[in-house]
Amino acid sequence: MKSGRASWDITDRSARSIPASTRNSPSASSSMKKGCPDNPVRVAGLVPFSATDFPDKLAAVVFLQGCPWRCGYCHNPELIPHRGNDIVPWTQVTDFLNSRRGLLDGVVFSGGEPTLQPGLGNALRQVRLLGFKTGLHTAGIYPGRLSALLPWLDWVGMDIKTTRSHYPVITGNRASGNRAWCSAEIILGSGVASEFRTTVHPDLHDADRLAELASELAALGVRHYVIQKCMAEKCRDPALRKPARPLPGYDLLHRLGDRFERFSLRNC
Ligand code: SF4
Repeated sequence: MKSGRASWDITDRSARSIPASTRNSPSASSSMKKGCPDNPVRVAGLVPFSATDFPDKLAAVVFLQGCPWRCGYCHNPELIPHRGNDIVPWTQVTDFLNSRRGLLDGVVFSGGEPTLQPGLGNALRQVRLLGFKTGLHTAGIYPGRLSALLPWLDWVGMDIKTTRSHYPVITGNRASGNRAWCSAEIILGSGVASEFRTTVHPDLHDADRLAELASELAALGVRHYVIQKCMAEKCRDPALRKPARPLPGYDLLHRLGDRFERFSLRNC
């Protein structure tokens, strides 16, 4: 689960602010399908300003359409289909960014899963050429693609959902644990600045699971870690909207941070 507009935890990415009247033009849709260089990615929405999605940067957030996983706690199910109905032309994003040169520091690509789209590298290059720092929110679904993108990234926010073997319970995908943890190793090995984040749902993460996860992350070399509370009422799966258990206590959650150079609890 990736970040939302007001916090990185995917909590509220539904209100995207490119005017609807400028979306969905037939020409834009067809050029997206062709993978036209002018439209390298399928943009589901743009948040023009965020102070929370790219650490220490004022950034625009570009939401890309599509995700292959099916997390029950996903807050943005409308971004899961590969072909969304509400596509923003890439040229509109670059026009906007041109108008914000000198005013914004960076651009973060979020989703959905941004690395799903093969044109993301092209989009990142264009953003860099415009003079912005580049950030990525990813669940690490495509380690190979992520590795190829890292030279074009200044920062990565990695959504690490749980321990490796427990992943399929959350994502519905058998290979997801290996993919995500492989991506985590790649990010840490690259030297690109990063933050790892876990969204905690009481029915999916108990205290023992979180302690094991924190230990594994610390052993891997994670330095910046965030635990954020899932807003259960927004979960895609109705069965998760009313948790059967309480969240592990604040003190216990806080103690997990002892292993990291920088640690924070969000919404907890
Ligand atoms: S990885 Fe899971 S939470 Fe993130 S966009 Fe995909 S389905 Fe939603």
